[in-house]
Amino acid sequence: MKKLIFVTGGVCSSLGKGITASSIGALMEARGFTVRMVKIDPYLNVDAGTMSPYQHGEVYVTDDGAETDLDLGNYGRFTTAPLTRANSITTGQVYKTVIEKERAGDFLGRTVQVIPHITDEIKRRILVVAESPDVDITIVEIGGTVGDMESVPFLEAARQLIHDLGKQNAISVHVTLVPSVSAGELKTKPTQHAVKELQEIGIQPDILVLRSKELLSEGLRSKISSFTNVELEGVISAYDVPTIYELPQVLYEQKADAFILKKMNVESKHAELGAWKQVVDKVKHPGYHVRIGIVGKYMELHDAYKSVWEALYHGGIANSAGVELVKIDSGKLEAAGADIDALLGGVDGILVPGGFGERGIEGMITAARWAREHKVPYFGICLGMQIMVIEYARDVLGWKDAHSTEFCKTSKHPVVSLLEEQREVKNLGGTMRLGASESITRPDTGMRRAYGMEKISERHRHRYEVSNIFRDEIEAAGLQVTATTPDGDLVESCEWPDHPWGLGVQYHPELKSKPTKVHPLFKAFIGECVLAAKAKSAR
Ligand code: GLN
Repeated sequence: MKKLIFVTGGVCSSLGKGITASSIGALMEARGFTVRMVKIDPYLNVDAGTMSPYQHGEVYVTDDGAETDLDLGNYGRFTTAPLTRANSITTGQVYKTVIEKERAGDFLGRTVQVIPHITDEIKRRILVVAESPDVDITIVEIGGTVGDMESVPFLEAARQLIHDLGKQNAISVHVTLVPSVSAGELKTKPTQHAVKELQEIGIQPDILVLRSKELLSEGLRSKISSFTNVELEGVISAYDVPTIYELPQVLYEQKADAFILKKMNVESKHAELGAWKQVVDKVKHPGYHVRIGIVGKYMELHDAYKSVWEALYHGGIANSAGVELVKIDSGKLEAAGADIDALLGGVDGILVPGGFGERGIEGMITAARWAREHKVPYFGICLGMQIMVIEYARDVLGWKDAHSTEFCKTSKHPVVSLLEEQREVKNLGGTMRLGASESITRPDTGMRRAYGMEKISERHRHRYEVSNIFRDEIEAAGLQVTATTPDGDLVESCEWPDHPWGLGVQYHPELKSKPTKVHPLFKAFIGECVLAAKAKSAR
């Protein structure tokens, strides 16, 4: 059994195609199928690695070191499908491959064209995933909105695959919007047009997922069914829910998953949704409330730290706590005369996330100092850990000029630097350390207590490292190195002494957290924040 489900979007962007594709994946897994997820991004960038977070939100890193679209993060949170380079397809990759083949003479003198050469390469990439051993169902999300110029070759490839494989093996799910205008009147016209646009390309949707504020009536669904040729059972109302993690249940209650399987002629056992019900229940009925201050740049852009926000919510789920995110632009902490106590005083824990570039660094250092001195739980991720090391070197060791060579090349105490700089290599490559690698946690540390094991594997995306030139002195002054690479060479985590929970990691734990399998560090961090909140209210 090899089945394909294409997920497209109409009317406008940001309708939650990614969450829809992910929820279908979750439902298929709940029925015992092996699922794979593919995201198609119709931009010309080969990958998301070169894109500013302002442009495209977070860069999601896979185990094999691909820098991909943040939708892969949703797939990772909703399903257990492994995510690799092969699960993210961009226009840039497709054209690059075809042009390289053309240069190598592989087309034997023929004219190279969008159809069939580009579409063939798209189909090949989809089938590499879909036809891999043991895979039952592959869900392919086509980014952008139907009607965009950029997505035409991808939709044509989807049309061909549906035609070639047959309707029983490849189906189309189209996500559209049913807006309400004055007096709450619901409008079906945008959906009507959006479906027509897809049909003109030659794709008849099998399922419509309609985004709306409230549950749509059967009368309205049946009206949409009659003008779109989609069976009434396949017209699904994806109404607004308080948490995205409720969407699998919303689809399940309307038997969307059963209908998908019926369309593909697949027998299946009952869906096991217990874990999702529990997640939703915890989100809706928290026992505690914590406020987490996140100090970074890009704070105004919600998607720039998507996985961090979600992982914090997951930490809340694991501790029966509702998590309120207090986003603090680190620049505010740098302003002359800034009232740091007022800016940070109201939070139960502080997180400094990853980042690149100098802007806002001093504000992050101020936040780390404040958290260390006030014994407020602190979680440093990647840059956030490097900040911990710089702060400690400045304020405890008294190296006032301590810095990272990313931000200051002339410091006498470059406590964070490129490996090549530490080894006095002339040619500074500054290659990015990308993807999963192993670390060893040390016994009797916060790291070991959180993970409960010695050997862990986490994903990296950084160039700079804690300097081994200064490491011994920093450790002697109290900052604990609590995990390293297996050879002991690179610092993977550090912790403050005499502090309830001040921990930084050089990797990105947020990329591996799921609501149904919360990352141990986010669980531990929010657990400490709950204790801090309780202590505060007892005072
Ligand atoms: N800019 C830092 C480095 O390259 C941290 C990167 C990050 O936080 N992802 O090492």
